[in-house]
Amino acid sequence: MGGDRATELASALETVRRRVDTAWADAGRDGQRPTLVVVTKFFPGSDVELLAGLGVTDIGESRDPEAGDKVAGLPGQLRADLRVHFVGQLQTNKARRVARYADVVQSVDRARLVRALERGREEAVDEGEQEDPLGVLLQVDLGEGEQAGRGGAAPDEVAALAEDVAAARWLELRGVMAIAPLDLAPDDTRRAFDRLVGLREQLRQAHPRATWVSAGMSGDLEIAVAAGATHLRVGSAILGSRPPQR
Ligand SMILES: *Cc1c(COP(=O)(O)O)cnc(C)c1O
Repeated sequence: MGGDRATELASALETVRRRVDTAWADAGRDGQRPTLVVVTKFFPGSDVELLAGLGVTDIGESRDPEAGDKVAGLPGQLRADLRVHFVGQLQTNKARRVARYADVVQSVDRARLVRALERGREEAVDEGEQEDPLGVLLQVDLGEGEQAGRGGAAPDEVAALAEDVAAARWLELRGVMAIAPLDLAPDDTRRAFDRLVGLREQLRQAHPRATWVSAGMSGDLEIAVAAGATHLRVGSAILGSRPPQR
């Protein structure tokens, strides 16, 4: 069984890496290629171990407490070498816990969440569980007009939220994240990601370390690469389709 799964994951990962390479070449971009964050929500820790063995350095999770249990169950050295991104909608009452085990929270969209994450990280540092600040991306709502957004702060709220994060001792602002609105034509998805990259440019003037743009999933990663994403969040194209959301 394990062998079959390893082969399956290796092959799907290779396909996605080739898609990224092709998109990168087609876009004529240079510099550093985007980081692949493999979204392992709903899949077991054994898959995370197999992926790490295939060179995956970053995983994404979106459900607490499932994510925390999974991370806690990983072998120590593997955990130390892996960057864990929390990418899902986060309730304020869960934020303190997530701040203890995540390396990056990509879905920060309101001031209350900033405060809760800061508290949680500070506790983890005080207790010797963590040493470094928690990385933070501001999730931006790219919905426009009739087009429903898929979560995140409104673009005009981003600057104030960035100040809140910058003022927090144990949080480090790294950039922006978004999920493209559903059912957009490719050109419109590209325009949405271009807006996200533009927001990162504005943010970077006041916050030089805010360089990340997390955009692109299994269905639209090529568009995100072309737009200049630094991080792609890919789940089903690598792990297979997820069981229905509970
Ligand atoms: C599940 C999830 C992904 C991965 O989506 P796929 O379409 O399976 O690649 C990316 N980002 C977020 C925020 C997610 O919740």
